Amino acid sequence: MINTIPTIGFISLGCPKATVDSERILTQLRAEGYLISASYEEADLVVVNTCGFIESAVTESLDAIGEALARNGQVIVTGCLGAQGDVVKANYPEVLAITGPAAVTEVMVIIHAQLPPPSDPRLDLLPPGGIKLTPRHYAYLKIAEGCNQQCSFCIIPQLRGPLISRPIGEILTEAERLVSAGVKELLIVSQDTAAYGVDTRYRLDFWQGRPLKTRITELCRALGQLGIWIRLHYIYPYPHVDQLVELMAAGLILPYLDVPLQHSSPAILQAMRRPANIDNMLRRLDNWRAICPALTLRSTFIVGFPGETAADFEHLLAFIQAAQLDRVGAFTYSPIAGAAANHLPGAIPEEIKTERLNRLMSIQSAISANKLQSRIGQTVPVLIDEITPTTIYARSVAEAPEIDGVIIIKSPIKSTAKPLSPGDFIYVKIIAADEHDLYAKNLATPPRRHQHQPVAVQK
Ligand code: SF4
Repeated sequence: MINTIPTIGFISLGCPKATVDSERILTQLRAEGYLISASYEEADLVVVNTCGFIESAVTESLDAIGEALARNGQVIVTGCLGAQGDVVKANYPEVLAITGPAAVTEVMVIIHAQLPPPSDPRLDLLPPGGIKLTPRHYAYLKIAEGCNQQCSFCIIPQLRGPLISRPIGEILTEAERLVSAGVKELLIVSQDTAAYGVDTRYRLDFWQGRPLKTRITELCRALGQLGIWIRLHYIYPYPHVDQLVELMAAGLILPYLDVPLQHSSPAILQAMRRPANIDNMLRRLDNWRAICPALTLRSTFIVGFPGETAADFEHLLAFIQAAQLDRVGAFTYSPIAGAAANHLPGAIPEEIKTERLNRLMSIQSAISANKLQSRIGQTVPVLIDEITPTTIYARSVAEAPEIDGVIIIKSPIKSTAKPLSPGDFIYVKIIAADEHDLYAKNLATPPRRHQHQPVAVQK
């Protein structure tokens, strides 16, 4: 052991919800005085936060556990794959312990048993916003655990249990702490973000001495007062999503709706146990755009679901064409151990799944490229993510970090006031577009309006 202070290595895999779990464990470790190391050799033990959502994620997680065991030897497994402890044990019986997702307390108990905390925790080492795995200017904020839906391809409700919403006052206090730590954009995540509060029956809580209901609309209204960008992810298309779009139109939260639709064919949606009235869905998209014309719509789809006929797939292509979504992520169906869909007849051969995926993506690529082209000439506020000697990488309200494209600013960068840094807002004019990204020039004189105003778009 090189360090006298107990040192933990940490591998964080999976989705933003898992990232938040990792951040919580890392924050607790630092609060108790543990050191965190990026080196297997310096660490006394390694925690691997795994993903178990799809086959490739299981493989990646098992590989990460194998590497940590080979390079360090002392390994604790947590996260979604940890909920399938027998899979981990069968592959690696030598792991020290296994816990499921969102298990901060259990992981800490196991670490204490293996490696007691130092007697003099250096609390001053903890930054005010806690440990973040994201850049300093944006952060994921998890508002609930688990899910009450029963989508047949998904085992999240088995892995993470039913919906449990965090108290609204606690979330808002955490959000304020993150803002004082320099965060300029909060990405609101949970398995089913729009369902926030349903499990509590919208219980009354308090923030800044004010009564507030534990409900997504109230939460968004309050978050909208913090003066930073608020972006919602994973919005199941409940009726009250219309109210969230109204808050977007009012400029309280970003006009960006990430609404996973998964398919359009009523038969497949029914087999997926998802809302199946797709004509209504097209009407709702129109309505959302009427309420908030600046809205960016993102969705995800699964192709090759068991029983998907050629007609079902054509239905999906027609929907994609009609919906004209700004951004789409698509995946071929892959069975997950324990999912109800595994028992459905009509498995689709892999080559057909891949061919369907390619067809869908080529249609959507043209739509997305057209949408980006139509933004040429706009003046927009952007949040700077990264600066190199020649280029600024930034995002407008229409681009979420890590999943969407970026805005690339190549022109010589001059700032009258002070040198620009990641986390600064500037105004740019869009001058070109390719399939994924936009190119822009930095405006020396910003238009006259509040810099953080999220929906400002000028042609
Ligand atoms: S809503 Fe999302 S997390 Fe919940 S069951 Fe469906 S796919 Fe899984």
